[in-house]
Amino acid sequence: GKITIAVDGYSSTGKSTIAKRLAAALGYIYVDTGAMYRAVTLYALDNGFIGTQDDISGLVKVLPKIKLKFVPNTETGRSEMYLNGKNVEEEIRTMKVSRQVSKVAAIGEVRTKLVEMQQQMGKDKGIVMDGRDIGTVVFPDAELKLFMTASPEIRATRRYKELLDKGEKVTFAEVLKNVQERDRIDSTRSISPLKKAKDAIEFDNSDMGLEEQFERIHEFAKR
Ligand code: C5P
Repeated sequence: GKITIAVDGYSSTGKSTIAKRLAAALGYIYVDTGAMYRAVTLYALDNGFIGTQDDISGLVKVLPKIKLKFVPNTETGRSEMYLNGKNVEEEIRTMKVSRQVSKVAAIGEVRTKLVEMQQQMGKDKGIVMDGRDIGTVVFPDAELKLFMTASPEIRATRRYKELLDKGEKVTFAEVLKNVQERDRIDSTRSISPLKKAKDAIEFDNSDMGLEEQFERIHEFAKR
C-alpha cells in the first residue's frame, strides 16, 4: 500500500530534487513545505510585519487572512504556490524572502497553522513531503524518513547557481552566509528545531550524483 515519506535536512541539500523524483517514480503527491513558510514570509514583508521593525504579534493576528494553495501549472504539471489567489512561486525563492524566512518559521502560531495544513494534505498517505520537521513533528509515524546533509560550500554553490540562473544579483559569500544563518536559526529555535529523527536514514550527498542517490533511496521506498 501507499506510504508516507518524510524528507528533512539542512538548506539546499537537494531535498526537493530527490523528493520530486521519488514522488514521480511512485505516483505520489509531492509537497514542498518550505514554500509555505516562504509564502507566509512574503506576506509579512509585503504587509510591513517584517522589515526594519518586526511586528510579530501583528502578524500572528492576521494569520487567518493568509490563504495558501498549491496549484499545478497546466503546462509543466509542477505545483506552484499561490498566496491569497496570486501566483508567488518565483517571488518566494528570492533572497529577500530567504533572508527573513527562518525568523518567521520560528513563530509557534505560524508553525501550528502550517503543520495542520500539511497533516491534512498527507492524511491519505501516498505523499512525499520535504522540510525540516516532517519526520519529527508533521508525520512522526512516516514509514520512510530521509535526512539529507551536504557540506555548506556545496550547498551554497548549488543555491548560488540557481539564483544566478534566475537573474538575481547576489554574491557567493552572501548565499553561503544565508545558508549557514538559516541552518543555525532552524536548528536552534525552541519550537520544532531541525534535527534528524531517530529512525531517519541519513544521506550525505556532498559527492554523490543525483542519479546514484535517487537509485539508493528508491530501493528503500520499494521495500
Ligand atoms: O526548504 P526551504 O529552504 O525552502 O525552506 C525555507 C525555510 O523555511 C527554512 O530555512 C526554514 O526556516 C523554514 N522551514 C521550516 N520547516 C519546514 C520547512 C521550511 O521551518 N518544514
